Amino acid sequence: MEPLKETWHKKIIPTERLNLSVFAANKIEVDVLRLDLIDPVISGNKWFKIKNYLAIAKDKNLKTILTFGGPYSNHIVAAACAAFREGFHSIGIIRGEEPSNWSHTLKTAAGFGMQLEFVNRKSYKEMSAESSIPIMTRKYPEACIIPEGGAGKPGIEGSADILHLVENKLYDEIICTVGTGTMFAGLANGSDSQQFIRGISVLKGMQDQGVPMEKEIKNKKKLKYCGVHHDYHFGGYAKKNDELIKFMNHLYTESGIPTDFVYTAKLIYAVVDLARKQQFSVGSKLLIIHSGGLQGNGSLAPGTLIF
Ligand SMILES: *Cc1c(COP(=O)(O)O)cnc(C)c1O
Repeated sequence: MEPLKETWHKKIIPTERLNLSVFAANKIEVDVLRLDLIDPVISGNKWFKIKNYLAIAKDKNLKTILTFGGPYSNHIVAAACAAFREGFHSIGIIRGEEPSNWSHTLKTAAGFGMQLEFVNRKSYKEMSAESSIPIMTRKYPEACIIPEGGAGKPGIEGSADILHLVENKLYDEIICTVGTGTMFAGLANGSDSQQFIRGISVLKGMQDQGVPMEKEIKNKKKLKYCGVHHDYHFGGYAKKNDELIKFMNHLYTESGIPTDFVYTAKLIYAVVDLARKQQFSVGSKLLIIHSGGLQGNGSLAPGTLIF
């Protein structure tokens, strides 16, 4: 199988103008960085969050990577596929008892040779905690442990490389979705000092947490703005309603851009809503990071989406 490293080159990952009437009416220009096109399986930001862990594993001559996730996790699939392509064995610790019907996510991960270990929620929480890394390392001495969602320093550093794919200086704002905040922190660190870095949280009840991974953001004082909106989670992680689904289908008809209902649909919905509310300065140029995740739409009923 071809090495992946070539596929995240600038020439292959396009930045597309998103022409919606609400943007024209409010005199802003919006581009979308199509990280969803990076690879059919290791889609979006996941490659950037994983690649430095694979480099560490190589350096330490470890043959296996081990990571954590739920039964629909984009990270699990991406880790399984990246490991397979780069010649590693992989172990996935999966949250919750083994379901009688495996999700398409789990089937795909297993198809890439990932060894799946189902653990109940309590054990999952313990095993995936940062403080358990030494215990896990003793239990799996052959494995490089990747935190859930790639949420560690190597994941942040890898995410900063996303901005090497674009002419960063062209943009007044970079806007991305926020799960663990790893990508957000990476973008903030990789950003040109004059920018806004705006995150759209997909989790409920995070208002009080402030900026996620704030301690890791070295560049914060130099940025014009670095903050997260908490009003666009649609009821919480992986929650959706008819309005969101309608938006996804409408956006696809207007622009040809497919989105996923967990992350990127909420992101672009938020940008449209903020534009309608005139939250962007007239004349600004925005870059939306399409962080992929389309495989997650596989859990929707057939026919829900037109793409
Ligand atoms: C995992 C994922 C995210 C979340 O990234 P964080 O670094 O955890 O904030 C965003 N978008 C998509 C499509 C994802 O799969």
